[in-house]
Amino acid sequence: MIQFKCRACAGTMQAPASRVGAGEKCPICGATMAVPESSVPIGRAMLCVAMLVGSGLFAFVMAMREQNLAAIIVAQLGIIAATLLLRH
Ligand SMILES: [Zn+2]
Repeated sequence: MIQFKCRACAGTMQAPASRVGAGEKCPICGATMAVPESSVPIGRAMLCVAMLVGSGLFAFVMAMREQNLAAIIVAQLGIIAATLLLRH
């Protein structure tokens, strides 16, 4: 299931992944919304993931500059962890 927010009333909506791109009616206000490709994490969790990805990418860029293999691996692990978090 994909979870997303209604643009009209900010209510939480959900639809099966097979309905991506199709219109889904909000159960609260009745507005029709296109189903996005992936769930939109809400609030604080979203911010944490964004910071993780950001710091992971920053570490990766720094590691590439320094040509430090260990730092590159650590940075990639951080990016992978953030990606896994985003999927939940
Ligand atoms: Zn709504």
